[in-house]
Amino acid sequence: MQFDVVVIGGGHAGIEAAWIAAQKKLAVLLVTNHIDLIGQMSCNPAIGGIAKGNIVREIDALGGLMGRAIDAFGIHFKMLNSSKGAAVWGNRAQADKQRYRNGIQKMLMAQKRICFLQGMVVALNTKGESIYSIIMDSGVEVRAKTVVLAMGTFLNGLCHIGLSSFAGGRCGEPPSCGLTKSIAELGIKSGRLKTGTPPRIDGRTVNFSKMQAQEGDAEPWPFSFATEHKLKNRAVCWITKTNSTTHAIIRDNLDRSPLYSGKIKSSGPKYCPSIEDKVIRFGDRGGHTLFLEPEGLDTSEMYLNGLSTSLPFDVQEKLVNSIAGLERAKIVRPGYAIEYDFFQPLQLKPTLESKKVKNLFFAGQINGTSGYEEAAGQGVLAGINAAQNALGEEGLMLSRDEAYIGVLIDDLTTKGTEEPYRMFTSRAEHRLLLRQDNCDERLLPKAYNKGYISRAFYQKRRKVWEKEKRELSHLAKTNIKPKAWNNSGPGSIKIPTRSSVLLKRPEVTIGRIYRAIKRKLPNRETCLRIEANIKYEGFIEIERAEYDKLKKLENQAIPFGFDFNEVAGLLNETKKKFLANKPATLKAALSIPGVTPADISVLMIHIAKEQKFKNVSRETVGL
Ligand SMILES: Cc1cc2nc3c(=O)[nH]c(=O)nc-3n(C[C@H](O)[C@H](O)[C@H](O)COP(=O)(O)OP(=O)(O)OC[C@H]3O[C@@H](n4cnc5c(N)ncnc54)[C@H](O)[C@@H]3O)c2cc1C
Repeated sequence: MQFDVVVIGGGHAGIEAAWIAAQKKLAVLLVTNHIDLIGQMSCNPAIGGIAKGNIVREIDALGGLMGRAIDAFGIHFKMLNSSKGAAVWGNRAQADKQRYRNGIQKMLMAQKRICFLQGMVVALNTKGESIYSIIMDSGVEVRAKTVVLAMGTFLNGLCHIGLSSFAGGRCGEPPSCGLTKSIAELGIKSGRLKTGTPPRIDGRTVNFSKMQAQEGDAEPWPFSFATEHKLKNRAVCWITKTNSTTHAIIRDNLDRSPLYSGKIKSSGPKYCPSIEDKVIRFGDRGGHTLFLEPEGLDTSEMYLNGLSTSLPFDVQEKLVNSIAGLERAKIVRPGYAIEYDFFQPLQLKPTLESKKVKNLFFAGQINGTSGYEEAAGQGVLAGINAAQNALGEEGLMLSRDEAYIGVLIDDLTTKGTEEPYRMFTSRAEHRLLLRQDNCDERLLPKAYNKGYISRAFYQKRRKVWEKEKRELSHLAKTNIKPKAWNNSGPGSIKIPTRSSVLLKRPEVTIGRIYRAIKRKLPNRETCLRIEANIKYEGFIEIERAEYDKLKKLENQAIPFGFDFNEVAGLLNETKKKFLANKPATLKAALSIPGVTPADISVLMIHIAKEQKFKNVSRETVGL
């Protein structure tokens, strides 16, 4: 067997890689341990969230699958932060887990250029400096021009529930053994990380009257730019809280926790902590909020979001039953932690190709990330670049001001990671540019130019952008007279004022402007884009100026003996990282894994205020 692109892994990274590579009419093989489980959601059956929702829209604009799939199989849609400005909106949806998985399989199988092969890959072969073939546990050898590795949490996976542990790629599935060794023999170093998941609850045993309902949005926003059907909420999520009894149960049983008894040594996701970590690190805090979320329409199973734990089963039962509404709840699947191998992403180029082995790409959790969206974002880019290499065409790289996927890959390949990496808006210095409303304008032309988007769809989107431009130019030209404005809402004017100037005011809505100029209001997508463009215009310039300032100052020395503890506004964790690494320059400080551009701004302002920069005055810094 011989293929242009072989993808190993049918998780969220592998799916996107196989799908996108097939768009270039290449022969693609998706090899996975279990074909029925392609598209399985290992943890929460939810897609999106703040920053993560933007990644899904970016994947969609690049030609990927995730956005379309969640629009089709979502059962509860909510735009997070919708009461704030569009720059921080994050679309999130609860999926029907089984329908999502089956739907993804159907979409992939409808693409005739993708072949499937079930089995475990146990080794890789190279010829010269390039990948040559993969070897299956059945002994079958498959030759490949390019290979994308996307094995998720499966490499030497070890699951923990209390002090018991068992081998598994995720609960109920075997681990992948042998492949890490084969990759290491190619000179690629591996490390070990950990993640965890909460218990699943039988919804028939829950007393919902003691919980607060969280309905979806009345008019959900689609993730995909191609979605035309109206999205429907078909389920409700529920909110409850832990309490002092729950916390006491956790504290009393820490000696039986694999995390706190020293059994698990690898690092876990600091920003997605287990309930054990939350109670130890943040104390009682009047209780930690939990969301009880449906796993699908045909199952009574519910996901207890916020209660990730690896305590023993009997302790999990006790702590679940201590929570309002869950007094009689039954656990269907216990929570667990998993340790697995990953490969330090510093060993990759910005195209996600290995620096050591030509035509070998790495994507998803094996690069030290956590989350479906982060995995899928890497999958789409690795798939595009594998296809480009197979065709001998130029690759695609995304910069930090073009996409969250660009920020993700830049962070991974330049800083590496010491804990499962998750995306946040604070990791992006250009977050006002990287909005979820404009992903198509940022990325669709790039994907189209490389042949991953159809001409018909590109033309369709161009019409949307042209309409937006026409409206923006109309607003920039059209004055509103005081008579037409002053009685229509807050904030009066004395002289005729341009519509675009008035729309910059925070309290002014686009609807009010269009009523005043007596023009037909565009559809809500165009309205959102117009409003965001106008309201953020000035702020984007400030954001760029701050970034340029940071770039100029990055080689500046941090004074010797500088006390990072003094810097107000930094997280304790960040202070600890600075104290441990003692960076000598701002650039060195930014290169520490987990340190964000926002942290550097805080540090820069503090040093400048204290006039502690060598050779730098307050004026130079512009403060
Ligand atoms: C216990 C647990 C808890 C998690 N908690 C969170 C969380 O709190 N928050 C969060 O955002 N994310 C969480 N995740 C992570 C989320 O599931 C992953 O980030 C995401 O699924 C990674 O996608 P992936 O494509 O990289 O890998 P996966 O979805 O893990 O898919 C890997 C695929 O590779 C296949 N495979 C592996 N080895 C081989 C081989 N040798 N040969 C052939 N096929 C192979 C597997 O069968 C599978 O199809 C958790 C995952 C687990 C298991």
